Amino acid sequence: MLILDDPTIQRDVRDRIINDLVNAEYAVSKVLSEIVERFQKIDDPYMKERIADVRDVGRRLMSQLLGTEREVLQNVDHPLVLVSKDLDPSDTMNLPPDMVMGFATDKGGRTSHTAIVARSLGIPAVVGLRDLAEQIQPGQTLIVDGIHAHVIVDPDPEEVLYYSQLRKKYLDTEKTIALNAEESTVTTDGFQIELSANIEFSQEAEQVRRYGGTGVGLFRTEYLKLLSPNENDEETQFQAYKHVLQVLDPDPVIIRTFDLGGDKFPGSLQGEEANPFLGWRAVRIGLDRPEIMRTQLRAILRASVFGKAKLLLPMVTDVGQVREVREHLSAVKASLGERGVSYDDGMEVGIMVETPAASMGIDLMLPEVDFVSIGTNDLTQYTLAVDRGSPYVAKLYDPYHPVVLRQIAHVVRECTKADTWVGICGQMASEPLAVPFLVGLEMDELSVVLPRIPDVKSLVRVISLEQSKTLVDKTLKAGSSGEVLELLREFVKGKYPEVLLD
Ligand code: PEP
Ligand code: MG
Repeated sequence: MLILDDPTIQRDVRDRIINDLVNAEYAVSKVLSEIVERFQKIDDPYMKERIADVRDVGRRLMSQLLGTEREVLQNVDHPLVLVSKDLDPSDTMNLPPDMVMGFATDKGGRTSHTAIVARSLGIPAVVGLRDLAEQIQPGQTLIVDGIHAHVIVDPDPEEVLYYSQLRKKYLDTEKTIALNAEESTVTTDGFQIELSANIEFSQEAEQVRRYGGTGVGLFRTEYLKLLSPNENDEETQFQAYKHVLQVLDPDPVIIRTFDLGGDKFPGSLQGEEANPFLGWRAVRIGLDRPEIMRTQLRAILRASVFGKAKLLLPMVTDVGQVREVREHLSAVKASLGERGVSYDDGMEVGIMVETPAASMGIDLMLPEVDFVSIGTNDLTQYTLAVDRGSPYVAKLYDPYHPVVLRQIAHVVRECTKADTWVGICGQMASEPLAVPFLVGLEMDELSVVLPRIPDVKSLVRVISLEQSKTLVDKTLKAGSSGEVLELLREFVKGKYPEVLLD
């Protein structure tokens, strides 16, 4: 619906019909294929997966325009496992979960909407299997292990027994977890931690409450820019921020300014750099292109009266950058004031700690910032000099490296000393293994991927702060990530189902 509602799509289709004198079917198919082309140029795998959504919308629109019927999977009337080359997100959404026991597809990735929808429906799924559909005959028996991403063809009786037990354990755990949605995120000895969500799109706001989260710890706004790179988009941005703030009010929504660059470039800003992750990225672009920064600040400030907005700056390496952003912020506030537009004058300004410059220099940053959020995805890559997207060095990308952990601990302790709010929004917060360590540091917030909220909450509720602090002391003395992982695994044993650790 949101794709169809996009004013650019509607305008482009209308323009083509009027200017090129073509029929609606032709105009729609042209406009949508241009969007698909645009998406294909984006390097980010998550964005690439969105191509399936656009194609899906296109197919449905065409079948409406042409009056052709689509085959519907809702009519499945007996339990089965579905194997196909590909599955549209909308087909997946309509699968009857009581009939489709699992599915496996040749296409798709971990972050594809098909996989996301499967998870929210609770249907076991494995995607991206390349050529399974060709190998399987109707009537064969399959086991679909969505946790470990395995499909077993014609399993033997032992495998069937093992997986029946695993399934029961999983369903029991899910039941317990679901009960926790309304509960607070508190350890057995009363330490309360905020549990919020990382989101990329404004329409995810509704899900945050459903999963039991309290607000947004990271709104990756650059996706707005990637979707409409050439627009003067203040209004689109304003609507997106306003929506999230209104839905979650009074819980805080941390809006990060565009983290463009690295692997996220809208065409018009693409530079020629040998090392884009060390180049023109995030706040550096914003400060060099103040019109982009100020448009975003204006949209955020205008939206700030609809809830509790906090402003987060990505990839800060120098306190001067914070001061410069604050100057832009004051100028934008002044011009809004002159126009009589209201905004939240007290909106907090914080930084992402995702470079060694920010973590080791945190004491230099703190006098200028209201809060801090640790981005372990980049902190790991910049600390270990390992490109987070390169398959060649993937095995060296290790957030459990003792030096990464020491930096996290240092930042949290300095923030605590200065009485500054500190959270973590890197992927690490979503990993059950890391959660006790982060809790033991007594951080203020964990911001995690949406579907992980219930798991993380249920884990926090069975651990104690005292034991977690001891774990932190031991972990910080470990000499290798192997030792670290051993300590963390030992700690969660019996507290979180081992079979669910991926
Ligand atoms: C991070 O670097 O940890 C982070 C949360 O930001 P992103 O993943 O968007 O770079
Ligand atoms: Mg980052």
